[in-house]
Amino acid sequence: MLYYIILTQVCGLKCIYCMNEPNPRVMPIHLEVDVEKIRRFISRDPEAVICFYGGDPSMRGDLVRLIMDRVPAKHYVIQTNGVMLHRLGDSYIRRFDTILLSIDGGREVTDYYRGRGVYDKVLDRARYVRSVGFRGDLVARMAVSSKTDIYREVTHLLFLDGLFSHVHWQLDVLWDYPPMQRYSDFDSWLERYNEGVSRLVRLWIREMENGNVLGIAPFKGLMWSMLTGERRRYLRCGSGIDAFAIATDGRILACPIAPEFRFNVVGHIDRDLPENLPGRAVVGEPCRSCSYFDLCGGRCLFTNKTMFWGEDGFHKVCRTVFHLIDELERIRPRVVELVREGIVSLGDIKYPPYTNSVEIIP
Ligand code: SF4
Ligand code: SF4
Repeated sequence: MLYYIILTQVCGLKCIYCMNEPNPRVMPIHLEVDVEKIRRFISRDPEAVICFYGGDPSMRGDLVRLIMDRVPAKHYVIQTNGVMLHRLGDSYIRRFDTILLSIDGGREVTDYYRGRGVYDKVLDRARYVRSVGFRGDLVARMAVSSKTDIYREVTHLLFLDGLFSHVHWQLDVLWDYPPMQRYSDFDSWLERYNEGVSRLVRLWIREMENGNVLGIAPFKGLMWSMLTGERRRYLRCGSGIDAFAIATDGRILACPIAPEFRFNVVGHIDRDLPENLPGRAVVGEPCRSCSYFDLCGGRCLFTNKTMFWGEDGFHKVCRTVFHLIDELERIRPRVVELVREGIVSLGDIKYPPYTNSVEIIP
């Protein structure tokens, strides 16, 4: 299972869709759980994957190093804005299997959402991790909002000196109230977004004709399921099923982003065992009776439970999922042929290779 460990609520940036507001009433600002307790809890699981999470977990390099030294795991993962990543130490950087760096595309949108100079800083850190010998999966993790041209930003990151192995994105939707506050005309934006996804799908299959499987995480994850017949009747992010978060006070959360919601608190490190946690928080309607559920898996537990944008807003966002799946279904027969002809292999398409915190459905 995947275990997020929330090291701190603190982050050095103030991105417009997050605003970075650490709140000690929700949980302690920094991790207060004894690392030995974490070791005892996680070491029951021989398949453990640890993902450091925040805030920005790189702000607590001391805890990252301590946990990597004391708590065994099959894979180590970190989700970070990158600003402090170089302080972790080269030998620890090399031990990660996946590093997810937050960057929203080109300089213009990244700096607009995240602050001036952030784009250059993140690229500097991406080059740094490669220069010290990191050979793992370097994921460009984008937030996609009103200023994003999805085709432009994804292709920019994909072809950036081969730095990033994968590009993944999450839509800036459904997690705030009032709804759609960062969009002047959400419906038109959605249409443009869907058109951009179609262009990306066309690019993806064109490249595949030459034996090149571009690392577009949502496409790979979904296409793998389509090719293998995998029916994913649970969340692809794994929240509440095979992914849990340890909050700074030791509570166990199904999803790492929402310690303040009761539905999300599924246990405590002092009282529960990992093997007893799955199934305590699961997606409900409208996902369970949706005809796309087998492939979508429910998209997001948090938004399914909170419904901040109401049913109408929720269904609008589902249109992006329908569109993505339909577009990939359209090219599936050609992908099957390309695999059969040996131009690409199934292994090239499989993603993620283990639950690595990439949610797959944007
Ligand atoms: S498409 Fe929408 S309703 Fe259907 S499973 Fe996904 S999130 Fe749920
Ligand atoms: S997709 Fe939703 S439920 Fe899953 S980790 Fe992200 S916010 Fe949490």
